[in-house]
Amino acid sequence: MIFDLHCHSFYSDGIDSPENILNKAFDNNVNYIALTDHDTIAGLQPLRDAADKLSLNIGIINGIELSVKWKKNVIHILGLNLQEPNSLDELLVYQNQQRIERAKKIAVCLEELGIQEAYQKAHDIAGHDRIGRPHFAKLLLNEGKVKDLNTAFKRYLVRGRSAFVPVNWVGIEDCVRYIMQSGGVAVIAHPLKYKLTQTKLNELIGEFKEVGGSGIEVISGRMHPNQIQSLLSICKRYNLVGSTGSDYHGQTMSNIDLGKQQQLPLGCTPVWQTWGL
Ligand code: AMP
Ligand code: MN
Ligand code: MN
Ligand code: MN
Repeated sequence: MIFDLHCHSFYSDGIDSPENILNKAFDNNVNYIALTDHDTIAGLQPLRDAADKLSLNIGIINGIELSVKWKKNVIHILGLNLQEPNSLDELLVYQNQQRIERAKKIAVCLEELGIQEAYQKAHDIAGHDRIGRPHFAKLLLNEGKVKDLNTAFKRYLVRGRSAFVPVNWVGIEDCVRYIMQSGGVAVIAHPLKYKLTQTKLNELIGEFKEVGGSGIEVISGRMHPNQIQSLLSICKRYNLVGSTGSDYHGQTMSNIDLGKQQQLPLGCTPVWQTWGL
């Protein structure tokens, strides 16, 4: 069985429509897929509609990737197997307000660099108002300010750079509570991407468990065997379930294709074990 429980559509910062994602999942022999757009459930119904239309025999899990402020860090938490995604609405309104406010501030920074109508242009690139840094990275590329998206992040969009604007994302406790209230399971996305020290990572996981978190992403995109081992041992130490996902954002934005990430290693309890699939 192939699971991919982490990917993005054009409802957040991905390139593909939900229908394209399903077709790709079929081509890549994916059995179960979760669409986990950033701070939105807008793509979930279109994904189900496409699944009904195409009838490809792929299991669909309701998902989301929530941005969380934890101490001075931004952490991503997946909500998986949401039973009532709409009960996140209040939280998502808040998150989207924060995102729009940030986008307006980033746009001002980019206008100072000589990019006119930056907000409108980023909005056009996104096709909606859930504008993320990748959309601004594309704008910087379109305007000839950088040679690729990665450089746009490094030079302009990360902490310490001229167009970085911090966001007051929801806290970890509220985030996990919302996920649980909607009948889902909270999983820390790509735990090694935050560059936390071992001590801080342990602290994060301890706190996450205390407020009701269940698992971590043991596999996220391309992984080194050492990383998998270290995440597997965290699962065992803290009695956490594991998840696997590609974090696919579209062909030109991802280093790994949909469903092509590794599956869970032996000895890891899958997050889906209790889902009765
Ligand atoms: P945001 O939630 O708007 O702050 O954007 C975060 C998203 O930006 C992540 O989910 C990635 O898709 C993307 N991202 C973050 N860092 C980089 C980077 N260095 N290069 C390319 N994309 C990145
Ligand atoms: Mn993203
Ligand atoms: Mn993420
Ligand atoms: Mn993601």
